[in-house]
Amino acid sequence: MSQVIYARVPDTLKDAVDMYAAERGNTLTSAVVDLLERGLVATSEAPSIAELGLRLATAAAQKTEIEASLRSVRLELQTLRSLSERARQTLGSCPRQECSLPITGYDLLVTGHCPSCQEALTDLLKLKAPQPEGTAGQPRAGGVSERDFLLLLGALGAVVGVAYLASKS
Ligand SMILES: [Zn+2]
Repeated sequence: MSQVIYARVPDTLKDAVDMYAAERGNTLTSAVVDLLERGLVATSEAPSIAELGLRLATAAAQKTEIEASLRSVRLELQTLRSLSERARQTLGSCPRQECSLPITGYDLLVTGHCPSCQEALTDLLKLKAPQPEGTAGQPRAGGVSERDFLLLLGALGAVVGVAYLASKS
């Protein structure tokens, strides 16, 4: 079953359709039907192509966002790792004379006592007068190395900084 469409078209379009038909060895009618069908399919698919483009743009934006989050998480992890390494290092020795075993930043700041004799380490956190020339940085008996303690505080400060920035974003 078929119907007739009467349509007046520009000469250039008529010539182009004739050429299309001749190239394929078709009649003018089958060339017009073929071209109309293709045109209708393209028109009906246009919105879905636009939608796909939009989805692609959204996915690309999400990917950029996720990559940025990943970078920041990696940085936070790296900061935490350096704090963890710093906290494992020996800062000084136990203040109890009979013990005087090594004390780490973890013992000093987290557990607050000597891992061997359970002696409280809070006194070690008190600020001390400057040490004499030449002995600065040397762990004294029953004390902590100020240099190592400051390095630990620096690593701790970096973690606090990351947490502060994360809370603002
Ligand atoms: Zn001890």
